[in-house]
Amino acid sequence: MRCPFCAHDDSQVKDSRPTEDSTSIRRRRQCSSCGARFTTFERVQLREVTVVKSGDRREAFDRGKLEQSISLACRKRDVPQERIDQLVSGIQRQVETAGEAEIPSQRIGEMVMDGLKGLDSVAYIRFASVYRDFSEARDFEEFASTVQEAAAHERG
Ligand SMILES: [Zn+2]
Repeated sequence: MRCPFCAHDDSQVKDSRPTEDSTSIRRRRQCSSCGARFTTFERVQLREVTVVKSGDRREAFDRGKLEQSISLACRKRDVPQERIDQLVSGIQRQVETAGEAEIPSQRIGEMVMDGLKGLDSVAYIRFASVYRDFSEARDFEEFASTVQEAAAHERG
């Protein structure tokens, strides 16, 4: 496994154990060049799924990228990492069990929005602003105020 810090090609596994729900193995690694420590996860991949992006670009479904964009949307919000992991795993399962070899990136975006809606309204708006195709800035403002009103109602 390549070191994410110095890009050295080799790292040593220091510790290896299943996560709490036993759906993956967590490995603690140490770079044999710079000594940096990092963690990798080994998970079952049910099938290869290709994501079709705008302009007909295609790339393999990548759990890491999904997690990254969700984490980015949740940045500095009070969302536990555990809930983010659950959301990512749920979406991965949906993608892999959809029975299709290709899935539009838009559909994954919708799954993320559905999940974030229940987690954190600010994270939801951040993500939606990137993934929804807003024709005008005003559309987004209207949308954002709708969500804020809804959130205010929920708080009572
Ligand atoms: Zn390194």
